[in-house]
Amino acid sequence: MLRVAVVGSGPSGVYTAQNLVQLDPGVLVDVLDRLPCPYGLVRYGVAPDHEKIKSLQNNLRTVLEHERVRFLGGIQVGPGGLPAARLRELYHAVVYCVGAATDRHLGIPGEDLPGSWSATQFVSWYSAHPDSADDGFVRDARSAVVIGVGNVAVDVTRMLARGPAELSPTDMPQAALSSLSASRVSDIHMVGRRGPSQARFTTKELRELGGLPNTELLVDPAELEIDPGYVEPAALPAVQRRNVDVLRGWAEAPAQDAPRRIRLRFFLRPVELLADGGRVGAVRFERTEPDGRGGVTGTGRYEEIEAQLVLRSVGYRGVPLEGLPFDAASGTVPHLAGRVLRAGVVAPGEYVAGWIKRGPTGVIGTNRPCAKETVLSLLEDAPVLVRKELPEDPLAALRAEGIEPVSWTGWQAIEQAEAALGASLGRSVVKLADWESLLAAARAAGSQQVS
Ligand code: NAP
Repeated sequence: MLRVAVVGSGPSGVYTAQNLVQLDPGVLVDVLDRLPCPYGLVRYGVAPDHEKIKSLQNNLRTVLEHERVRFLGGIQVGPGGLPAARLRELYHAVVYCVGAATDRHLGIPGEDLPGSWSATQFVSWYSAHPDSADDGFVRDARSAVVIGVGNVAVDVTRMLARGPAELSPTDMPQAALSSLSASRVSDIHMVGRRGPSQARFTTKELRELGGLPNTELLVDPAELEIDPGYVEPAALPAVQRRNVDVLRGWAEAPAQDAPRRIRLRFFLRPVELLADGGRVGAVRFERTEPDGRGGVTGTGRYEEIEAQLVLRSVGYRGVPLEGLPFDAASGTVPHLAGRVLRAGVVAPGEYVAGWIKRGPTGVIGTNRPCAKETVLSLLEDAPVLVRKELPEDPLAALRAEGIEPVSWTGWQAIEQAEAALGASLGRSVVKLADWESLLAAARAAGSQQVS
């Protein structure tokens, strides 16, 4: 009987488990996660006000509750936890679905000034990630600059513009709700280095920015018209054409007088974050223009935008995993249809799926075909993989080594504690935001119940 460990319980990990149990009637799958909570970026990345996308958790839940799937939370694979080599001894195959755990850097002066954060730090905070800290993101800020024009940039821009009435029905932690409710940020500048037809956001997400209460959406027609794709959109791919249409509608709309403004800016490349009183006070940009090949060139003209808060939203990045090969340029593990490649040669029993396989692109659903490709490779290799002798049950071996996972029952207890916290605060579910409360809730249920 094939035994597989899937490392990571985000969408790619869960879709991997789902494909395994659907395509192999005998396989047993353990889904390990560093956190006591499952669902990866669906829990800790999807914005709290995107309830429909978050409800995808219900689909992921049915997989993790499958009779041949076990959730083993709170297990760190790698340094300080379970060595990757030991994990491989316990299973016929290991599929790494660990995503892209860090963010890309701009590499410009002032990037690390107080008040400048990666968008992922901000997202983690309002999503209650237990590793994040309340860093006073919006305290004393009136103007915010979001660098980048992808969907994460749209998420953080929208969250900065939302008021208490819209935030309080979400599951965001109480401290984040209080801070964002008291926010005095009135101007949010979301800035792209290229043109509107090259922005990475998707149309539904873009359109949502125009429908926020008490918020005016501003674009500068002159800035949009620098982009040949904006002027002549016919040849653009469908998403970009729709984006351009939405922006054109905003460019032509009459001005409003709202208490909050989102300004979408283009053709501005960040060159420096400028300090004011020991923290960020402005971002200096160089104005760019199209180079005719899809990129931009600098014009030698500069502009400064005031900002007491800067969120750098320029993409995620994979990090190397102990004992696995890594391509630093792409931030991914080299692979052949999901099979890990060591020096160009397939490493038996080791696989990847999701962002660590293909880079941080695509929507959640992109992980389905990605996971399926990996699982088909694994099952093709299975006749050879099952020849390896394994201990009776990997869980017993883990326990013998002092590792006690958070069980599915433990996770359900966390969910109950979050519902109880919400009820006590007069809100719906409110997420627990620190390790101590998560583990206390899980332990109260008796994590020993993994079997
Ligand atoms: P992304 O889509 O790759 O966007 C990154 C943005 O950063 C781009 O605008 C990029 O501009 C810009 N950028 C990169 N380096 C830069 C630099 N040095 N200076 C200035 N700008 C720079 O990344 P993301 O927004 O983090 O999203 C990651 C993935 O998650 C995407 O596939 C996204 O669609 C997905 N996601 C989806 C949703 C949703 O469906 N609601 C929500 C969140 C995230 P260039 O194009 O010029 O490089």
